[in-house]
Amino acid sequence: MTPAATLRSPVALADAGLIAADRLAGLERVAAQYAVAITPAMAELIEVSDADDPIARQFIPAEAELNVRPEESADPIGDLVHSPVEGIVHRYADRCLLKVNHACAVYCRFCFRREMVGPGGVRALSAKALDSALAYIAGRPEIWEVIVTGGDPFILSARRLRALMTRLAAIDHVKVIRFHTRVPAVAPDMVTDALVAALQAPGKAIYVALHANHARELTPAARAACARLVDAGVPMLGQTVLLRGVNDDPETLTALMRAFVETRIKPYYLHQADLAPGTSHLRTSLAEGQALMRALRGDVSGLCQPTYVLDIPGGHGKVPVGPDYLSETGVEDPSGRHHAYPPAAA
Ligand SMILES: *Cc1c(COP(=O)(O)O)cnc(C)c1O
Ligand code: SF4
Repeated sequence: MTPAATLRSPVALADAGLIAADRLAGLERVAAQYAVAITPAMAELIEVSDADDPIARQFIPAEAELNVRPEESADPIGDLVHSPVEGIVHRYADRCLLKVNHACAVYCRFCFRREMVGPGGVRALSAKALDSALAYIAGRPEIWEVIVTGGDPFILSARRLRALMTRLAAIDHVKVIRFHTRVPAVAPDMVTDALVAALQAPGKAIYVALHANHARELTPAARAACARLVDAGVPMLGQTVLLRGVNDDPETLTALMRAFVETRIKPYYLHQADLAPGTSHLRTSLAEGQALMRALRGDVSGLCQPTYVLDIPGGHGKVPVGPDYLSETGVEDPSGRHHAYPPAAA
């Protein structure tokens, strides 16, 4: 059954048959803490008969979210320590995040900004705050790239996106504008011709990074939405969070990376799941992530290889976390056999 509208509460999930009525009380406690939203496109994908459905695991709240561990933090990647003005996170010299809104089309149970996104969180940037954020960018010639994120910027109206692009386009030193979104997969109908047109900014390179975690999210409608962007000259990147029980096996991860590449989306990052509160049931170890990356390397096309990255807790930045094929004396091949490699001639 496809619900007509986004499901936004445990009661709505129960009415749609996605959760059993006896879970309502427990899940109301979770929903009081963290926003819930499942779009019709994602609700339709959920196999209710499968208790381990990877789509359900990403979007249906779980009692386990109330289990917060000491290593978890409300600001796991240290956005706050690098936020000079509201709406900007400037951690690396040549690029900054511009967080234009705090709402999303869906609310992911593992979200690293889960304490900040959602209807109960901060709302969209006020006009005044947006002015200050854009003034910050305009005043820093080292900012070569602006990464528009949120929340999800693609839930903004085409009119607001166009206004934003016009203002960014007027800043000479900004050459690249990158959007991070889940909308093309979770609400493909929202990628309208008007939205695609609104992204165009003369003289700037526009990129769209799609966050998707399972091949099933790339439905025919999602692939068509991505094709509208790519056909309009917008290169796309794939961004995936490694999640226990969602994509933490080689076949599932390979299928996802291939689905991206078939959709003309270059896999960019595989993120180690951040230490967001109440998400330990969805996190793998770094060793498991490395083993998965090793499984992908060799038999799967190079186009399908993302870089496995960790955003170091506390705001210390993103770094690749292997696996590493080099040793003091040589190099390992994709099957794990060691080979000597000579030092450079003196
Ligand atoms: C992830 C992130 C970026 C983007 O990093 P890339 O490696 O360029 O994709 C930029 N700024 C902040 C604060 C980030 O967290
Ligand atoms: S769409 Fe992104 S920002 Fe929104 S809840 Fe999901 S992971 Fe978080």
